[in-house]
Amino acid sequence: MDYQHVIEQVMSATKPHVGEGKVADYIPDLARVNPKQFGFAIATVDGQVYSDGDVDVPFAIESISKVFALALVLSKGDDKIWDRVRREPSGLAFNDLIELEVENGIPRNPFINPGAIVTADQLLVDTGDAVAALRTLLRAETGNPKLEVDSVTAESELRTGERNRAIAYLMSSFGNMVNPVDLALDHYFRQCSFSITCAELAKAGLIIARHGLRADGSRLLERSDARHIIALMATCGTYDEAGNFAYRIGLPIKSGVGGGLLAVVPGKCAVAAWGPALDPKGNSVSGAVALETFAQVSGLAVF
Ligand code: GLU
Repeated sequence: MDYQHVIEQVMSATKPHVGEGKVADYIPDLARVNPKQFGFAIATVDGQVYSDGDVDVPFAIESISKVFALALVLSKGDDKIWDRVRREPSGLAFNDLIELEVENGIPRNPFINPGAIVTADQLLVDTGDAVAALRTLLRAETGNPKLEVDSVTAESELRTGERNRAIAYLMSSFGNMVNPVDLALDHYFRQCSFSITCAELAKAGLIIARHGLRADGSRLLERSDARHIIALMATCGTYDEAGNFAYRIGLPIKSGVGGGLLAVVPGKCAVAAWGPALDPKGNSVSGAVALETFAQVSGLAVF
């Protein structure tokens, strides 16, 4: 595969769309980000990285952290998380409360806010410090020993996190929170606020593309658990646009409201796109165009 050629095609197809959409502003710190930025990176399973654009500009990982938090929980080798969260697409917004009320406090999937808060709560039980566990993992896989939570973003999330608080307390009322709600939320808000670059995200995504193998060759996840995560990315990874993304792009993807998108091509590569301006559902507009072009030019769509 001539990845350099693929990147050139991606960059020229995406250029007219950079800045299209609207930067998330319900978390005030995200509203300060310049929407006219775009980066694209491909990390291959044999360790090559191809990239172009704003690939070294750090941005908030947001919901993409949910992939790594779930990976860490599953790496403990027990399936108890699946008693607390289901594996179905939601069809509603990522911070919706209605389904929780109807479904007795059991979230639809680990990649929307309720499911991710439950996963952060479980990771806190499993490790004693969910943020530290994620930091250690992301530092090792990206090769950046300084990768860190952006404390300004985290504080902004904490200050404006009423819906997430409502979600967590509602789940707690059904007995689906283990830690004190505010403690679990503190870890959740900080996990979403890790500052990461596009190139780093692609490298970290290789854990999933390599079916659970880490950069140092050790195994984080059973192959089957990596496959489960890939299935959840394909079915639930892009909010209530997952069907449309499967149709348009045909790759397992997780998005975040910081404008990042992480796609995996199992056994081949991980691909990260970043453009801070979002569509109404919360997915990066330029990032989606980029991944659509990537899938077309590379022929690597999985469907
Ligand atoms: N921290 C964000 C929130 O809780 C994450 C949302 C997202 O990226 O989907 O609303």
